[in-house]
Amino acid sequence: MNTPVSADQQAEIDALRDSPQPTLRAVSPGMEAHLYTAHPVLDHGFVRVVDYMGDDAAICQAARVSYGRGTKSVQNDEGLIRYLMRHWHSTPFEMCEAKFHVKLPVFVARQWIRHRTANVNEYSARYSILDREFYIPQPEQLAAQSRQNNQGRGEVLEGEEAQRVLSLLREDAMRSYDHYEAMLSQAQPDGTPQQGLARELARMNLPANIYTQWYWKVDLHNLLHFLRLRADPHAQYEIRAYADAMCAIVADWVPAAFGAFRDYRMEAVSLSAQAAAVLRRRLKGEVVTQEESGMSAREWREFEGDWG
Ligand SMILES: Cc1cc2nc3c(=O)[nH]c(=O)nc-3n(C[C@H](O)[C@H](O)[C@H](O)COP(=O)(O)OP(=O)(O)OC[C@H]3O[C@@H](n4cnc5c(N)ncnc54)[C@H](O)[C@@H]3O)c2cc1C
Repeated sequence: MNTPVSADQQAEIDALRDSPQPTLRAVSPGMEAHLYTAHPVLDHGFVRVVDYMGDDAAICQAARVSYGRGTKSVQNDEGLIRYLMRHWHSTPFEMCEAKFHVKLPVFVARQWIRHRTANVNEYSARYSILDREFYIPQPEQLAAQSRQNNQGRGEVLEGEEAQRVLSLLREDAMRSYDHYEAMLSQAQPDGTPQQGLARELARMNLPANIYTQWYWKVDLHNLLHFLRLRADPHAQYEIRAYADAMCAIVADWVPAAFGAFRDYRMEAVSLSAQAAAVLRRRLKGEVVTQEESGMSAREWREFEGDWG
């Protein structure tokens, strides 16, 4: 894995971490430990927290519309947070916010940007020249099209085929970046001057595995919704790698809220009316088949996957 930030960028991060300020604001010790630090994701990417607002206590403060911190005991607060999560009382979670700096391949950014309830500012490839950095999957991520799931991968490619695919990915990336530079350049290969194509046009031949960067600010409620969808096994591995890194950060930031989220959302199983009816009948000792369940074959397979 390459270092995702340069020595200069790391020096800027270190300088920020070396200059703490006293504050009256709510502080989460777990999030302070992450603040500014770049956590590597994929081969050149990272996610890092650049700012945040609130902590577990802030969720309780909002729920109680309190004049003070709004906390009672830690146990009491945790109980309240779990109650709020369980009953979809979501607005207290919107009182916490986090601002992330993310470096990610463009094809991952396309999936990520579908989450509309965040504020985004992306690196401008009209203004700046993109770096020669492309996502090339690790061999264990280089898999064939899944036969069961049209939106998924199957077995890992092996041997010569894997090598061929990796070579194509690398060669295409390098060739398109060479052409990008050649179009931007104010000199032809033999040194003859040329005007150089505008950056906003030259970028259009770059492939979707080139890295981009953005600042992404979101409230905790919508962040958890994002994590629920993107840290899920159904999400594509590359965006899941970011979501997993963010789950670890959120768990340190708001441990009670993240614990409730894990129990009532991530690892919870929701039941349709038909599935609940089948379970009730099974608990009474009845044998129920898919035909009498009112569920489609696919839904039944998913139900059996969860309940055996
Ligand atoms: C596994 C997976 C596969 C996917 N496959 C595809 C695909 O094949 N094609 C595709 O196009 N997308 C696909 N998506 C994207 C998906 O459909 C959503 O666009 C994406 O997950 C963002 O979810 P969201 O709208 O809930 O999030 P957000 O945009 O953050 O919105 C959060 C919630 O706010 C509300 N909301 C926000 N904006 C509006 C609005 N304008 N109107 C009404 N309510 C709003 C909704 O309740 C929404 O759930 C896929 C997502 C996943 C996780």
